[in-house]
Amino acid sequence: MDFSIIIPIYNEEANIDALYTRLLGVLESMRVSFEFIFINDGSRDQSLHLLHLLAARDERVRYIDLSRNFGHQIAVTAGLDRAAGEAVVIIDADLQDPPELIPELYQKMREGYEVVYARRRSRQGESAAKKLTARLFYRILASITNVSIPVDTGDFRIISRKVVEGLRRMPEQNKFLRGQISWIGYRQTFVEYDRAERAGGETGYTYRKMIRLALDGITAFSDAPLKGATLMGFAVSGIAFVVMLYTLYSRFISHSYEPGWASLMVSILFLGGVQLIAVGVIGEYLARLSANVRQRPLYFVADTNLPPHSETNPGA
Ligand code: UDP
Ligand code: MG
Repeated sequence: MDFSIIIPIYNEEANIDALYTRLLGVLESMRVSFEFIFINDGSRDQSLHLLHLLAARDERVRYIDLSRNFGHQIAVTAGLDRAAGEAVVIIDADLQDPPELIPELYQKMREGYEVVYARRRSRQGESAAKKLTARLFYRILASITNVSIPVDTGDFRIISRKVVEGLRRMPEQNKFLRGQISWIGYRQTFVEYDRAERAGGETGYTYRKMIRLALDGITAFSDAPLKGATLMGFAVSGIAFVVMLYTLYSRFISHSYEPGWASLMVSILFLGGVQLIAVGVIGEYLARLSANVRQRPLYFVADTNLPPHSETNPGA
């Protein structure tokens, strides 16, 4: 099998048929053998029913129905665990990632790259707030990690078998695939495209899910927040030391001290805030540490038409 196309699905009933048609057109013109792996990530609409219909019509359509909504990154992971292709394409279901770009991605791969990601030159139909937070996030992340994670790039990309095997050997619970793929290395490159508007339906990425993804990316690939907390601790202690000297001076030498309610309040509130931030930062890392120690399966499969496979991921 040449190609596996991995498509996570969360409430995409409005897009599935159009996506299938466009993907099929592209892949058939490429004259390659391929499979589609649709992962139903606990959709509440008719998505699963549509997938059943497609699978009945076309045996190249595989589906994995997860037991509930596990989130985009886990859904893609479930697909990667089962993908049989020599090359694997990860693509969103809402047609924001144009299937027509796949031949170009593949062309680059044939030039000897293991990963070809699609970088967003522009993005349409998304709120100013989303664009701004995304821009900021990618740049902050890039500035605080050692791994060079590309900016303005989602999970739309083609990766080789080697990279898929690499991902299967990374058992972390809090997935940030685009970071993990950068971390794996080999020759990587990109092509640029203009990101279209969502074809139908609504985004499944709530702000809550976006914040979780951002924190997963940062905590998995950077210790900067921990170091920042330590540095902040030193800075605040330094300031406190100077203030202490001043206090002793005014109490015992100049004898000009006031019952200083204001300064007391300010320093207590400030110190309290700094301590809470530092504890919170530690908490973020600790939470992920404990999730990994628990070693729970990443997801459960309710139903699939894929053949049984050799266990690489427990629970898959
Ligand atoms: N998705 C998913 N699980 C979720 C949320 C989203 O599998 O909990 C899928 C969704 O169906 C789509 C892709 O992930 O194929 C990207 O989601 P979306 O388009 O909602 O994100 P956005 O483009 O707004 O960032
Ligand atoms: Mg989208």
